[in-house]
Parts: sequence; structure tokens; C-alpha cells
Amino acid sequence: MNGVEVDSDEVQTIYERLNREAEEAGYHLNPDVEFAKDLIRGLLTNEKRYGYGACPCRLAAGVKEEDLDIICPCDYRDADLDEHSACYCALYVTEVVLKGEKRIGSIPERRPPLEERKRAKPKPSAATISSLPLPVWRCKVCGYLCAREGPPEVCPICRAKKDRFERFI
Ligand code: SF4
Repeated sequence: MNGVEVDSDEVQTIYERLNREAEEAGYHLNPDVEFAKDLIRGLLTNEKRYGYGACPCRLAAGVKEEDLDIICPCDYRDADLDEHSACYCALYVTEVVLKGEKRIGSIPERRPPLEERKRAKPKPSAATISSLPLPVWRCKVCGYLCAREGPPEVCPICRAKKDRFERFI
């Protein structure tokens, strides 16, 4: 794919890491290991191509600021897990899928169109901000909230990086 090569050892290493981190945080990778590894191969390909792991099932813009919401795990994973028992790519699944009690159907794209994404980012009011001793940061991937001067380097819940946090209050 466009001259980007990913070797199987690399895929295996990332698979093991993601699987461990997912289980530790209450998430699950797709039990079809080869399917999961194919998606991880796509993620690694994107990481080498763009410098970040854009979702392997979506068309990335190739500009990090525009693709932040689809860097895996994407901002839409948890809502899709709640509603469809799997993320858009089905790399992550819920326990019922893991146990074979539910089959994954087709999952509609939840990501809003570009124009909509650019529009409307509600800003907290100045009055609210000034009454708090510290700003509150929200992880856009899993919703984790913390009150501190700046966002943490890595979300302690879902491992998303600092740039996936937004100022919540
Ligand atoms: S969590 Fe989101 S970015 Fe990652 S594989 Fe699933 S749909 Fe794609």
C-alpha cells in the first residue's frame, strides 16, 4: 500500500499492547485475532504514512489537526460500543460480542461531516471559568475528566494522548 511496509512482528507487538491496555481499561479487541491484526496493520500503515494512527476504516485528511478525532481510539468509539457493540471498524467490541452472544452488524458512520465538525465548539463562559480554582479537562475519547493546570500526557483510562483532551470547564 503506497510503499509503506509493516512487518508481522510489529503487528504482533502492537496487537499484544493494545489487547493488554484494552483489557486493563475494560475494553475488548475483536476476538477474531486475524481480523484485529489486519486493522492494526492498517493503523500502523497510517502511522508511518501520516505520523499518527488514523482510523484504518476512514479516509484521513493527512493533516493531524483535521484527523485528531479519528486517531485510534477515535472520539466515536465509546458511543458506537454503546449503540452497536463495536466501534466503526469493529476493532473494539463489547463483552457480548466477545462472548459470542451477539453478532456485529453494519455500523453507520457517526463522524459528522467536515463542515459540521468545524462549526460550534461550545466555549465555557468566562464567569464559570473564573470561579474554579483549576480548569477541567475532558478526554474526548472516553470522557475522563480531571481538574489540573493542563491535560495529562496520557489519559489514565483509555491511553489517548494529551492532544485528545479538550478544555471542558
Ligand atoms: S476505535 Fe475508532 S479509530 Fe480505532 S479502529 Fe475503531 S473506529 Fe477506527
